[in-house]
Amino acid sequence: MFDKPTNPDAIRLWPGSIPVSHRYTAGLAGERFFRTLAERGAFLAARCDRCSVVYCPPTAFCERCLGAIDEELEVGPAGTLESFTVVRIGFDGEQLAAPVVVGLIRLHGADTCLVHRVAGDPTLLSVGMDVEAVLRDPGARTGSLDDVEHFESTRR
Ligand SMILES: [Zn+2]
Repeated sequence: MFDKPTNPDAIRLWPGSIPVSHRYTAGLAGERFFRTLAERGAFLAARCDRCSVVYCPPTAFCERCLGAIDEELEVGPAGTLESFTVVRIGFDGEQLAAPVVVGLIRLHGADTCLVHRVAGDPTLLSVGMDVEAVLRDPGARTGSLDDVEHFESTRR
């Protein structure tokens, strides 16, 4: 029988595993986005002609008016750092050797944001600063968001 825990600080984790398998599809617009990123190192976006909202990554349907989106365009690779956090603890509770900055980046020309790593000294980052995508070498790209190594400040 289980006893009701009286000290919540004493409960950190319950080791175990849950076998889950899944297959994720990026959809038609996502497929084009990842293929364009891998093949040309460019960021594909989609614009809703009714709302004028530019989605990056692109979507086949507008999240606001639910209308189909046919117009595609390229945005970035520079953007604005809209927000960021500094991660110092890993997934398993371990102290990271070096902090990792995770940023919310709105590529220039887009209205939506990407979440990605931001390189550099976290104390030198600020909301609103310009950043730019640093892509992996063309031969190392696999058609995923990891084809972007990280974003970095355009201030040099
Ligand atoms: Zn719309």
